[in-house]
Amino acid sequence: LVFVCFPKSFIYDVKDVLKLFFMDEDIAEAVEEPPPGSRGVFLSGRYSEADGKPVFRIQLKGGEAPYFRDLPAEPKAGELLGYEMRKTLKNEIKRHVFDALSGYAGFEPPWGILTGIRPAKIVHERLAIGLTEDYILARLRDYYRIRPDKARLLYDVAQAEKKVLDRTEHGGISIYIGIPFCATRCVYCSFTSNPISKYAGLVGSYLEALRRDIVLTGRIIKDKGHRIQSVYIGGGTPTSIDAPDLRKLLLMVEENLDLGATEEYTLEAGRPDSLDKEKLKIIRDSRVSRISINPQTMNDETLKAIGRNHTSGDIVRAFGLARETGFDNINADLIAGLPGETPAMFEHTLQQVWNLHPEYNTDDRLEA
Ligand code: SF4
Repeated sequence: LVFVCFPKSFIYDVKDVLKLFFMDEDIAEAVEEPPPGSRGVFLSGRYSEADGKPVFRIQLKGGEAPYFRDLPAEPKAGELLGYEMRKTLKNEIKRHVFDALSGYAGFEPPWGILTGIRPAKIVHERLAIGLTEDYILARLRDYYRIRPDKARLLYDVAQAEKKVLDRTEHGGISIYIGIPFCATRCVYCSFTSNPISKYAGLVGSYLEALRRDIVLTGRIIKDKGHRIQSVYIGGGTPTSIDAPDLRKLLLMVEENLDLGATEEYTLEAGRPDSLDKEKLKIIRDSRVSRISINPQTMNDETLKAIGRNHTSGDIVRAFGLARETGFDNINADLIAGLPGETPAMFEHTLQQVWNLHPEYNTDDRLEA
């Protein structure tokens, strides 16, 4: 068993790093150290004081490689850190948790402390301020603990993306709208996503808050004379909200954002267990130009293992329903490297999805 005790504002990130090392273990949140003699690993982080100065203390107990480190912290900052300071401390915490756990487990995951999405943005931010290739590669290796071959891959991917990004016209912008609800939570999920069965009561207030953001954003875009090149409604899974709420969401986008010159407007209809004819019809009647139905894998045992409450047959049915409703632009996301999957299983997925003739395919990779 792995016990973890961290302030609420860091627990999510720390658990992400823990999962890199203890994918199959139970990770339990603890409020205090288990009694002496307890089995398992205990990882804690808390604000404390050393030599009269405020510190953030990280400790790992259990096994052969205990770890103890005090990081400089702001006095009494607690949960109230500013965004930049919190981001810096969060990365420092992740680095030390990573070092503690790699000492304990005897291996280092190849992507270091990176657990979320869009890792190339780290490279883009540094390229934008003129840092050199050598400096960026060294930073990826030494700070983010990324293995040299992966650091090189990340840098090369960012350079390839940059060629596309540099073509974006001046004043053209893209908008992402997040709907943080899903049918169930996938085991690898690093997004803000809440099971709709438990959180349906929050959808109304979330949409109201979103309306305020969209209205304001629409006004700013208009005042500054920007052109909206693309809109992506993702999440979460936007289609996990009920049909009247989905209609409300699409209307608020169309009423407040000028989509007159928008080249692509995508709605993620990711999980087939969130789709039905009524919702597809609502989307079809809106200005959405592309939907995304995401199998991730076409192997039923994997779907079950990763916490998705549907089968590969449901994916085929959802595609059929979408085609019947008139959609001719469908994306399908796949993930290579899901737990327990072999190359032959991925090939099976590719073949099955190929048979569905999606217009786009996104291939993500999971590596641990
Ligand atoms: S469908 Fe996507 S957002 Fe929803 S739980 Fe799974 S990975 Fe997370």
